[in-house]
Amino acid sequence: LAAVITVDGPGGSGKGTITQMLARKLGWHLLDSGALYRLTALAAERQGVALDNEPALVVVAAGLDVTFEPTAPGEPTKVLLAGEDVNAAIRTEQCGNNASKVAVMQSVRDALLQRQRDFRKAPGLVADGRDMGTVVFPDAPVKIFLTASAEERAQRRFSQLLQAGVDVSIANVLEEIRVRDERDMNRSAAPLKPADDAQVIDSTGLSIEEVLGRCMAAAGQ
Ligand code: C5P
Repeated sequence: LAAVITVDGPGGSGKGTITQMLARKLGWHLLDSGALYRLTALAAERQGVALDNEPALVVVAAGLDVTFEPTAPGEPTKVLLAGEDVNAAIRTEQCGNNASKVAVMQSVRDALLQRQRDFRKAPGLVADGRDMGTVVFPDAPVKIFLTASAEERAQRRFSQLLQAGVDVSIANVLEEIRVRDERDMNRSAAPLKPADDAQVIDSTGLSIEEVLGRCMAAAGQ
């Protein structure tokens, strides 16, 4: 089996940026598992499936026609749903929120499990998510749990949204982060928490380069 580094943590902890940089530095594959939950929510919406219709959501998750297209090194992978570029559609706050609603369902998680494990290929995989170290790759030799204060995560997300020209208030962003964290941590199916053997890195007040350095050190690189 190929090597895996798992990076779990709450939204806005910098996981997306850090896992892209790690994968690029190591020349490894990257799994953005959150995209699969976002895609399930988006596909459900498009097929008119309600977000509480568990049996129908399982069918949607199992049948996702998704392609992750590699882009330039260090850039986010392009996500195609049935051949259509859905990057913008899955990155909205609403899609993230809907994703966390479908992610509470154990049967939906089961439907996405093998698809995630299939990303494990030579020379190695950097896996970004909530349960990479606890459920999907429990035997990973390197597990990182990346976190930051809710205020700092809200500030980062707020800056990203501002740059993207989205008109929001920081208070709203903070509230959404708190609601989503609570749902992710308190669900019974794969709740967000560090694996017993994870190294916890708190990125509050650290630059991206500093966080990357700590992750590389944690990975023994
Ligand atoms: O990381 P991202 O914000 O894209 O994840 C969207 C949502 O998908 C999370 O809030 C979480 O509820 C869910 N998720 C999950 N398990 C993962 C990745 C994401 O439950 N491995």
